[in-house]
Amino acid sequence: MGFTIAVDGPAAAGKGTISRALAGHFGFGHLDTGLLYRATAARALDGMAPEDAAAALGPADLERSDLRTAPVAAKASEVAAIPAVRASLLAFQRDFARRGAGAVLDGRDIGTVICPEAEVKLFVTASPEIRARRRFDELIAAGAETEFEAVLADVHARDARDMGRADAPLRPAPDAVEIDTSDLSVEEAIVRAVQIVAAVRS
Ligand code: C5P
Repeated sequence: MGFTIAVDGPAAAGKGTISRALAGHFGFGHLDTGLLYRATAARALDGMAPEDAAAALGPADLERSDLRTAPVAAKASEVAAIPAVRASLLAFQRDFARRGAGAVLDGRDIGTVICPEAEVKLFVTASPEIRARRRFDELIAAGAETEFEAVLADVHARDARDMGRADAPLRPAPDAVEIDTSDLSVEEAIVRAVQIVAAVRS
């Protein structure tokens, strides 16, 4: 019987890092569901209708080197508001959730829509300023030229789109456990997440 861990939260809150660590710790598979929306967005930026792009998504689309760029991220939160896009990506995510011994899925609507029956639901959050600072530091380290204010504005815009959309808006499931990483180190956040899951597993 599979064991599903749903990890939701806004951009740059730390859910990817926590999800990878949980998957490693418990020997589970991990799916970064944001990649599905980013891959759909990348094909849409190439000129394809987003609905068609989502329906035709294949493994090669998830390997594209441009999925982590700012234009693709911004377009991802636009295509993610289209109900037909979300519907196309739903079955793949649900199948993944029940594969093998267990699975960790991270995204925006895993605990609320994709896997409402998940054994553990985490909502990973942090203040917009802290999230923007982390993203800004990553961009600068990668050699990008940008202003902190511009990165903060992007974070606010993406939050507003993700929380404000009608279909599967970003919000914690009623039974989700919140982890606010604003004042936690990466190690502290991981330890907390592992403890929460281990308490349910035992
Ligand atoms: O997590 P990531 O930043 O890669 O997600 C990109 C965008 O994809 C998000 O801003 C959100 O609009 C969308 N998304 C979503 N539902 C998910 C995962 C991502 O709507 N489960």
